[in-house]
Amino acid sequence: MFGVNIRFQIAALLILAMITADYIKTPHLKLISTRSFKILVGLSAANLCFDISTVYTITHMDIVPEWLNKLMHQMFIFSIIAVAFTYFIYVLMLSRNQKRLEKGQLILCTLPLLTSLFFIIFGDIDYYVSDVGVYSYGMIVAPVYICALIYALLALIISLIKNDDLNKAQRISIQLGVCILFAFTLIQLFFPTLLLSGIGLSLMVLSVYFSFENQRENFDTEVSCFSRVAFHRVMSENYETKKPMFLINVTCTNYSEINSIFGHDAGHKALAYVAEKIKKETRQSVFRSQTSTLSFFMSASEAAAADTAAYLDRCLWEDKSSQLKVNVRISVMDLRKYAENPDEAYGLMSFITSEKTFSENVVFLNEEIVGRKKRRDKIEQLLIEATESNGFEMYYQPIYSTRHGTYHSCEALIRMKATSELGYISPEEFIPIAEQKGLIFKIGDCVVEQVADFARRSRTVSEKLEYIEVNLSGLQASSPDLDKRLENIVRQHGIAPSFLNLEITETAVIGSETNLKNNITALRQKGFSFSMDDFGTGYSNLAQITKIHYDLVKIDKSLIWPAFGENASEKAERLLSSVINMLKAIDAKIVAEGVETEEMATYLADKGVEYLQGYYFSKPVPEAAFVEILEKA
Ligand code: C2E
Ligand code: CA
Ligand code: CA
Repeated sequence: MFGVNIRFQIAALLILAMITADYIKTPHLKLISTRSFKILVGLSAANLCFDISTVYTITHMDIVPEWLNKLMHQMFIFSIIAVAFTYFIYVLMLSRNQKRLEKGQLILCTLPLLTSLFFIIFGDIDYYVSDVGVYSYGMIVAPVYICALIYALLALIISLIKNDDLNKAQRISIQLGVCILFAFTLIQLFFPTLLLSGIGLSLMVLSVYFSFENQRENFDTEVSCFSRVAFHRVMSENYETKKPMFLINVTCTNYSEINSIFGHDAGHKALAYVAEKIKKETRQSVFRSQTSTLSFFMSASEAAAADTAAYLDRCLWEDKSSQLKVNVRISVMDLRKYAENPDEAYGLMSFITSEKTFSENVVFLNEEIVGRKKRRDKIEQLLIEATESNGFEMYYQPIYSTRHGTYHSCEALIRMKATSELGYISPEEFIPIAEQKGLIFKIGDCVVEQVADFARRSRTVSEKLEYIEVNLSGLQASSPDLDKRLENIVRQHGIAPSFLNLEITETAVIGSETNLKNNITALRQKGFSFSMDDFGTGYSNLAQITKIHYDLVKIDKSLIWPAFGENASEKAERLLSSVINMLKAIDAKIVAEGVETEEMATYLADKGVEYLQGYYFSKPVPEAAFVEILEKA
């Protein structure tokens, strides 16, 4: 009879053993929920063992002393309430994203547990033994089942309340787990000899395991380290403590190049190599916190964090064994000092890891960087407002034709209308932010609309100018629907596409080069013309100029200025002269930018440069002033 009675418990124990075996195969995070889960598995196993023991003691009451039988039952009943309590705490922790409970809340949560404990110690118990089965009842048992039920119901309620920290699958798994437990317990209630609650319990643990704790989402298999999800969990948990918290980020700065040249596998391999190195050298848990960034936490002094960063930097640079040359930059963030909560920490982290202006290889988060980030956030806010409220206006800078001796075109340059405590914000500063935040497409459309509208309204402009040059940002130039958007705008305003010349910088290649080429081909067929902007500042210009047909090439000021003025250098002059000759050799029409003095203008005109643009002629000015300039010329 003993054997028959415990077959379900044995099956349940086997399920727990399988879960445990699978669980220890992968590394795990040190979170409260992880700890709760381990306790849950342990308690469930204990519960099953006590269950089996009670079947034995109850069926062998002739040889087992009564106090031992009772004790076993007390332990068994206690393990039931302990499991229910742990399960509830576990679900609660997950739903609060690891945020700890306050004292009052904790006491409230333990009330059913304490009540149960009271009944277990002071209640009485009776046993039912027959040929078909055994079970116990009485005040030790019934109130505890009710309390366990309360915990299960609370877990169920948590899973039903809307909450961003639990996804749909996780909610369903909680609901499923509780329902299984209820169903099996109900069966046991009506057929007391079927001791099914144990197997219900292990199935509930199994469903939790599948949706939360098998750690698939916590692990980044491509790079063999903890994932971004895990990073967020640990960050939240760390904020619950008061310990020092340094976040050290190792960003692979040439990740996208590795990806595009050698393929995605190579990119992952490179990151995996860095992750392994960090693990080996620091013995910390490593997270892939961003696509190309690996991070780890250190609860140490500032000096220790700095030492670790410097040491890691040396290791990663000195190591010659990697076939892929990975470039890394390390940032060290004292989170306790600079970020009050995880959200602020993420914001600062993505700022510091994406900033390209640092000259040092190991960067420490400081007030200055925090200030820069605040400025950027403010600009972002202004950009959002400006995008929604028509807050941009166009300035125009005339372009002089040396052959005709008049202004024959102009460049449209965007300005933000709003003034703020930040003072004048140059497009050089806000355009990259607009690109990052995906606002550039709306802004780009607004630029073309304003220019087209100006061309339609002003007879002076349409009669005196051949075309207006409009800047396209890299993202815009390689966006797949650019041709349709531009064509629509031009058609709506009734101007000829040939009245717009689109300026593209070499950074355009940051987007998709194929898209860029397709766009240029499509737009050229419709009548638009193109300029290569900022020639001489990037490394891909030279190659690009042969791949894509440009109507104009704009030589950047940085190639022109060093050849003139007090500090003029002979070399710079020769370089400028050969660049002009080289461009002429491939029949490119040239615009010289940043022409500030008569000397520059004369020199460039003599060299045969067709078009000149710069403060010598005029600064960029608003519409009305620009029309005046044209009328006077
Ligand atoms: P860019 O395309 O190279 O534009 C020329 C910049 O040089 C303009 O700066 C212009 O004001 C300035 N400049 C022209 N002549 C002189 C000169 O003689 N001396 C000096 N010191 N500067 C001169 P701005 O308007 O501040 O624009 C900066 C950059 O912002 C532009 O550089 C362009 O890359 C971007 N940008 C401006 N407007 C737009 C726009 O509508 N869309 C996009 N995507 N980018 C824009
Ligand atoms: Ca330009
Ligand atoms: Ca330029």
